[in-house]
This record gives sequence, C-alpha cells and structure tokens, in this order.
Amino acid sequence: LFGYVGIEAVLDQIRIKTIKTGIEFNIMVVGQSGLGKSTMVNTLFKSKVSRKPLSYEDRIPKTVQLRSVTHAIEEKGVKMKLTVTDTPGFGDQINNENCWEPIIKYINEQYEHYLREEILINRKRRIPDTRIHGCVYFVPPTGHWLRPLDLEFMRRLSKIVNVVPVIAKADTLTLEERAEFKQRIKKDLKAHGIIVYPQEDFDEDPDDRLLNDKIREKIPFAVVGADKEHQVNGKKVLGRKTKWGIVEVENSAHCEFPMLRDLLIRSHLQDLKDITHNAHYESYRTRRLNESNM
Ligand code: GDP
Ligand code: MG
Repeated sequence: LFGYVGIEAVLDQIRIKTIKTGIEFNIMVVGQSGLGKSTMVNTLFKSKVSRKPLSYEDRIPKTVQLRSVTHAIEEKGVKMKLTVTDTPGFGDQINNENCWEPIIKYINEQYEHYLREEILINRKRRIPDTRIHGCVYFVPPTGHWLRPLDLEFMRRLSKIVNVVPVIAKADTLTLEERAEFKQRIKKDLKAHGIIVYPQEDFDEDPDDRLLNDKIREKIPFAVVGADKEHQVNGKKVLGRKTKWGIVEVENSAHCEFPMLRDLLIRSHLQDLKDITHNAHYESYRTRRLNESNM
C-alpha cells in the first residue's frame, strides 16, 4: 500500500529529544544500619559510571534524615542526572515497629509532589521527577533466612516501588553460602507473596520474559561495596583489602555488584522508570484522586 515510509526516522527524533532533555533517574538504598548502604552509594558513583561529582544536595528536611546525592553524568552528549537517596539504617532500636514509616512516607511524598504538579491547570512542560525508580533493599548476610522484619519491610515497599533485594557484604559468605542463601531468600519471598523487580506481570513479550527470567534467577545479587582504590596488576581497582587479597567490587568473578549496576543504570533504567510511572505512580494517583479532596 505504501512505499518506503522511513519510520526509523522517528527513532532519531526520540534520540534527539532524549539528548536535549536528558535523563532523570532516582535510586534509594534501604536496610538495617551497618550493612554497607552508604558505602554502596559511593561505590556506585566511584565505579565506572561517573567521574566528576557535581553537587551534594540536602533537599530533605533533617528530621527525616534521608540524604540525596546527585551526580550529573554525560556520555556521548547524553546527560543523566542520577540521584541516590541514602536512608538512615534501622534495627538499632529494641523496638523496630514501624521503622519503615519514614521511608514509605518519603516515597509517597515524591508521588504527591508529582501529582500536585500534574493536576495544575498550567502545568510545567517537564515536571521535575523525584520519584524513586528503584529501591535497593539490603539483606543481612546471615546465610540462614529472611528475618520477619526484612519480610515485612519488603512486603510494604514492593507495593509502592520497584524493590531490588541484594545480599549485603557478600564477601563474608563463601560462594556456596551465597548460592544457598540466594535460593532461600527467593523461596521466602515467594512464600510470602512478595513481588520484587522485575515483576513477571510486567514482562511485555516472550523475549522480555526470557531476558527477565535470567535476571530473576540471579536476584538477590550478592554485592560487595568499597570506596577505596587499590593497585592490582598495575591497574587501579575499587575493592576491599583483606589479609588474603583484594575483593574487587567491579570484577564479576568476585561479586555481583556489576550486575546490580548494569541492571539499574544500564539495561533496565527505562523499564524501571516506566513501571514507576505506569504502575506505582498510577495506583498512588488513582487512590489519591478517589479520596477526591484535591
Ligand atoms: P550503612 O550503615 O548501611 O550505611 O553501612 P556503611 O556503608 O556505613 O558501612 C558499615 C561498615 O561496613 C563500614 O565499616 C564499611 O567499611 C563496611 N562495609 C561496607 N560494605 C561492605 C562490604 O561489602 N563488605 C564488608 N566486609 N564490609 C563492608
Ligand atoms: Mg549509612
């Protein structure tokens, strides 16, 4: 019916538009104190994603004690504003009841900000997006099972945000222990009906399913964090120095930090954003507008 239409020109337009507007991406780290969350934030920024720190901002009131760090990254002319929100650890108190509240509150507040901008008659052309696209949950490396606290926390989080669980400080476990613990966590999550990212329901087609099945197999990633560089074979590597050698965080033979980083800021970035907007934000929005006091 038609001759050559040249639809692929649209791809160039999308590319150019993305280059002009840039990418905003927000991650959060959650888990008990002492599991290496703050270290992981530094690891992420010090690893091969960014070289020059741009700004440290404290957008969040001190009382909540959440802290966001933003770095502007530019690669081949594409700008990305990557924000990582570090949260105070919980678990220090004897009573950890409701320790998820400040975190859940923060996540919902970002949806609220977005909603308030979106329903204005005169909307901004681009609504600033502070919504959390991915929440990395740190599981303590006990090697046994998930604690009720971790289950309850993830159960609540997974209803409002993309949760990516990781086994923290994986260098304290042997490879066998990591593998066993991983299966155990998977089983526990399934038994409790906790659905983490990438959610099977959101696989778009068989190809997607195949790719995501491989990722689901690997989750929770066994990660190691470090913010110091060491000399290994004449090269500088990020790692933890021990009596027995250096655990290299960016070496996938040593830990699965590279997989976590690739998933978040490379292979699944747009998917995390899409699910945040189309599923998590959408249900927040529906709920709020049904309350209809806006
Ligand atoms: P946070 O309370 O979760 O933010 O934990 P921190 O990042 O402050 O780390 C607590 C301690 O654990 C520090 O002494 C870190 O050097 C150490 N640490 C962080 N990541 C790792 C890791 O992957 N493996 C090991 N063995 N120690 C780690
Ligand atoms: Mg910390």
